[in-house]
Amino acid sequence: MRVSVFGATGSIGESTFDLLSRRDDIETVALTGGRNVTRLAQQARSLNAQLAVTAHDDCYQALKQALSGSGIEVAAGTDALIAAAERPTDWVMSAIVGAAGLAPGFRALAQGATLALANKESLVTAGPLLMREAARHNARILPVDSEHSAVFQALTGEDIAAVERVIITASGGPFRTWSKAQLAGASLAQAAKHPTWDMGQRITIDSATLFNKALEVIETREYFDLRPEQIEVIVHPQSIIHALVGFRDGALMAHLGAPDMRHAIGYALNWPERAALPVARLDLVQLAQLSFEAPDPDRFPALRLAREVMELRGHAGAAFNAAKEVALDEFIAGHIGFQDMALLVERTIDSLLSNSGLTDAVESLETVAAMNQMARDIATRLASRMTSLGA
Ligand code: NDP
Repeated sequence: MRVSVFGATGSIGESTFDLLSRRDDIETVALTGGRNVTRLAQQARSLNAQLAVTAHDDCYQALKQALSGSGIEVAAGTDALIAAAERPTDWVMSAIVGAAGLAPGFRALAQGATLALANKESLVTAGPLLMREAARHNARILPVDSEHSAVFQALTGEDIAAVERVIITASGGPFRTWSKAQLAGASLAQAAKHPTWDMGQRITIDSATLFNKALEVIETREYFDLRPEQIEVIVHPQSIIHALVGFRDGALMAHLGAPDMRHAIGYALNWPERAALPVARLDLVQLAQLSFEAPDPDRFPALRLAREVMELRGHAGAAFNAAKEVALDEFIAGHIGFQDMALLVERTIDSLLSNSGLTDAVESLETVAAMNQMARDIATRLASRMTSLGA
């Protein structure tokens, strides 16, 4: 099987690399990364890739040097990422973080490749476009987010028309029990430490604000074509049940598993087969207790904002994600506080409400990119005002 991995040097990328390294039937077409060229070169040598691409032009020489004598082609820059996605392959992992992951995955669909989609921003920003592109090329998108993989698995052999509701779980993040006053002082180090999952820094902080769950609610709506009111979120601190599907006969099918992304990645890699995977087996007796609680919209407004975005539709998902990315950058840079992130996203959407483009149907990557840029500009401007005036 020919495979390519976009975002190979990240958390999902490393888990994918681990699974690919255990197989002897894999032909690696392209591996891509960002600034971590040393690791990218190691992976490319180890999997004997045809091509290694860094997203950054200024990393080209370092990557070339690290791969000298290997015979592996080297390229750099955004166009090179797209060209890599256009190389014929059978299976593509989309694991670049952020809106930058959309275009390569979109291009890969045109080759008819199976797209293993970890990059949730793709469905949030351009869901209808992506799903149409997959149908047009008879390509398949397989969800890799653990919740969506869980729903996908629970739906196997079922009629989507018999689905009443889908419940996705949230760990609640490191601040699940914190008061609003405590949240006001939450630091970057505290937000970047997840209680149950080991993930990249950005998604970890998004889990602390529940923006990650907000993106996943929109992702669920786009991938499974459900009505917003059919999608529920519950907080489940142990992260053992990833999602449940409720059917019209009252049955609830739950997917349980250890919090290890190699399960969802491996499922997408082997689909429609189930192959043995090197993940821990659950000991339910030792776990003893699984607990659940309702999310608190007052302390964590991200879920409410996701509902508004689903009502608005059109380019609201792109604007929401762009504002969230800016808010995250500003928080990481120490310019705004933890709770300011949701405030900034809300203010950005509000200021875009009078813009007709916000609710226009998503027709092309270009309109998504334009909304992404517009929302980024507004959010950046609003953030600088928040910094100077205090939110
Ligand atoms: P990481 O930050 O760990 O890795 C991101 C990858 O993307 C790295 O390879 C990085 O390169 C590369 N990258 C960063 N910026 C750019 C850019 N502008 N252009 C091209 N490549 C870039 O992220 P994760 O692995 O945690 O997450 C990846 C995606 O998967 C996200 O969309 C996330 O929401 C989703 N996801 C992640 C889960 C997890 O467990 N981590 C679970 C479910 C979904 P480098 O590091 O070399 O700079």
